[in-house]
Amino acid sequence: MLYCPDCLQGRLLIVKAATGRLFLLCEECESAWDDPVAILNGRGNFDFEQGRRDFAWEDIAEASDEDVRNAGWESLPRE
Ligand SMILES: [Zn+2]
Repeated sequence: MLYCPDCLQGRLLIVKAATGRLFLLCEECESAWDDPVAILNGRGNFDFEQGRRDFAWEDIAEASDEDVRNAGWESLPRE
């Protein structure tokens, strides 16, 4: 499991917007990243203003194993 580099205590959940877009969301502070590589490279946070144009927060669901494979994120630690 990846931990949030912002709050250092929340786990990063792989979630899916209604548009089908996957992103990573901290269960504690709700920081989010749209690319796991950005986290590993310390490249900074998800652009919430951009994100709001792509999906509504209430439509977010946990990503399935198939979603994660399709995104090519299967090597991310999830437990
Ligand atoms: Zn956090």
